[in-house]
Amino acid sequence: MRDANVVNESANIVIVGSGLAGSLLAGMCAARGISGVLVLEAGPDIPMGDPSWWFHHVASGGGTPNTPYAACYDAAQDITATGGAGPKAEPPWSIVGGRIFGRGGTTLHWGGWIPRFMPEDFALCSATGQGIDWPFSYSDLEPFYCMAEKYLGASGDSTDNSPPRSQPYPYDAAPYPISAGPFISAFEKLSIGYGHLPMARYGQASGDFGPCRTTGTCDYCPVAGRFTGDQPLTLLRGNPAVTVRMGAPVIAIRMSSKQRVAGVTYLDQTSGRIVQVDAQAVILCNGALEVPKLLLGSKSIYWPGGIGNDHDLVGRFLSATQFFYSSGQMPNLAGFQEELGFASLCSRAFDTPAYQKKGKLFISMNYETPNLDVAKWMAAGKSVQEILAARVAATAFQLYGNLSAIPQYDNRVTPDTGTNRFGLPRTRIDTPAPLYDPDSAQEYLGIMNRVLATMGCSSVNAGTYPQRSDHAACTTRMAKDASNGVVTPELQVFGTDNLFIVSNSVMPTLPAANPTLTLVALAYKVALDSNTALGSLVGSVPKP
Ligand SMILES: Cc1cc2nc3c(=O)[nH]c(=O)nc-3n(C[C@H](O)[C@H](O)[C@H](O)COP(=O)(O)OP(=O)(O)OC[C@H]3O[C@@H](n4cnc5c(N)ncnc54)[C@H](O)[C@@H]3O)c2cc1C
Ligand code: SF4
Repeated sequence: MRDANVVNESANIVIVGSGLAGSLLAGMCAARGISGVLVLEAGPDIPMGDPSWWFHHVASGGGTPNTPYAACYDAAQDITATGGAGPKAEPPWSIVGGRIFGRGGTTLHWGGWIPRFMPEDFALCSATGQGIDWPFSYSDLEPFYCMAEKYLGASGDSTDNSPPRSQPYPYDAAPYPISAGPFISAFEKLSIGYGHLPMARYGQASGDFGPCRTTGTCDYCPVAGRFTGDQPLTLLRGNPAVTVRMGAPVIAIRMSSKQRVAGVTYLDQTSGRIVQVDAQAVILCNGALEVPKLLLGSKSIYWPGGIGNDHDLVGRFLSATQFFYSSGQMPNLAGFQEELGFASLCSRAFDTPAYQKKGKLFISMNYETPNLDVAKWMAAGKSVQEILAARVAATAFQLYGNLSAIPQYDNRVTPDTGTNRFGLPRTRIDTPAPLYDPDSAQEYLGIMNRVLATMGCSSVNAGTYPQRSDHAACTTRMAKDASNGVVTPELQVFGTDNLFIVSNSVMPTLPAANPTLTLVALAYKVALDSNTALGSLVGSVPKP
C-alpha cells in the first residue's frame, strides 16, 4: 500500500543546497541548456538588495543582527561540540553565525575576501609531512582562478604576482583607506611585506548587480554591489529548466546499487510530506558540515556505514581557519574614520613556504576602526566640542590573522540526534586533536603586537576567537585513491557513478587564505573538462 505522506517526483539533475556552489552548478546547467534541474534548499528565501531592509538595517544600528539572514543561522542548541581549537580544548567550537541556511547560502554575509591559495598550499604533505597533497598543482588551477575571479567580480592589484597570475583582475583594487597609513609605515619599518586584499566587489555593474558604491554597510548591501550566492539564482528566475525549491531539506540519498544513486529524499516543510525524487545524477553542494552528515545519514545495504564511507573517512579531517586579533590604543590625532565597509590592506609575509611547517598566517587590517558614530553622539545630546574631542581621542587599532589548519584524522563532524528548525540533523563536532600549533600562534601574535607597538599603540593585547566554522573544510577530502579520500580529483564520490560533491569539504587541506575563490576555480576545472563525469554532465560557463 502506498504511504499517503510520501510523494514521488523525478528530475534530471538534483543539486542539494542553493549556496555559492549550488547556484554556480545550476547556472552551468542552464548555460548548457540542460532541463529538469532541481535545486533543493533547506532554508527559506531571503530578501537581498532590498532598499526597505537596508533602511531598517541602517536605522537599527547596522551589524549582522539587523539583517534578514540573521534569522537563518544555526541556533546554539543545534550543535554538540567536544574539544576546541587548541591543545587545552579551549575555547569551544561555535557554529552560530558561521553559515546561513537559505537561498544563496553563507555568502549572503561573507566578507568577499578572495585571495588565491599559494602554490605551496597544494603540496602540504610533500613539504611538511602533514595531511595529503592536492592531486594537482597551482599551475593546473591558475587558468580557472582567472575565470573564478571574473565570476565573482574580483577587484585586485594586477601587478601583484605573488602568487603568479596570467590575467589581470577584472576590476582595479580598492584604494587603501587613509587610516591604513600607520599600519603601512609600521610594516615597512619592520620589513613586513603588504598588499591589496582581492575582494569580490563589482567595479562596474555586473548584469543586474552593482557596482559597489563603497556605501560601507556591507553586512547588508543596498545595491547588490558584491557577489552573493543568490544572484546567479535571480538570473535564472523564469528559466523553466531550473526549479529552486525552498524549505526542502534533503534527508537521505537513495542508492539503487552500490554504484548508482537513485535519487534523494527530502522533507517538504510546507506540506509536511516526504518527497522521493528520482534523478539521473545528484550533486551535493550543501556545505562542508552538511555534506558529510548527509552521506553518513544515508545508510543502506550497499553502504552500511554511510555513502562513500567504506574507509571511515567521511566527516574526518575537519579543518577550519582559526581567527586571531591584535589590538592597541592610540590617539586618533588625524581624525581617521572608517571609509570602506571591507578590508583592503593585507600582508601575506607569513603565507610563504618558510612558514608552512609551523602554520601560515594571513594578516589583514581591521577596516572598522577608528570609527566614531557622530549621529549617535548627536542623538545622545553631546556638544560639538565633546564630539570633536572624541574624534581625536585614543581609540582601538587592530589587525586580524587567519591561521592555517592542521589536518587531523580524529577531528570530525557527524550527525547528532534531533533536528534543527530547518529539518536537518543537529551537528556534532568532535575535535580532540589540536587544529593549530599553539606555539606558532603565540609567535604570530607577538609579531602582530609588534606592528601595533611600532605604530605607537599602547595597551597592546592579542587573542583568539572561539573556533568558528566559517571556513570549515576537508570533511570529504579529494584524493587519488579511495583509501585516502572520499572524492576523486574529478569530484565524484569514490565507488559511485553519479554522485558528486562541490564544496569546501573536498579540499585536501586548508591553508591560511580564504577558501571560496579556490572552490569556484576547482568547480570550473572539473566541470569544464568534458573528460570528467561531472564535466560531461554540466560543463558550461555560466553568466558571471
Ligand atoms: C561570516 C563569514 C564570512 C566569510 N567570509 C569569507 C570571505 O571573506 N572569503 C571567503 O573566501 N570565504 C568566506 N566565508 C566562507 C564562504 O561563505 C563559504 O566558503 C561559502 O559560502 C561556501 O559555499 P557553499 O555553497 O559550499 O556553502 P553554503 O554557502 O553554506 O551553502 C550551502 C547551502 O546548502 C543548504 N543545505 C545544507 N544542507 C542541506 C540539505 N541537507 N538539504 C538542502 N539544503 C541544504 C544550506 O541551507 C545552504 O544554503 C565566510 C563565511 C562566513 C560565515
Ligand atoms: S561598500 Fe559594501 S554595501 Fe557599499 S556598495 Fe559596496 S558592497 Fe555594497
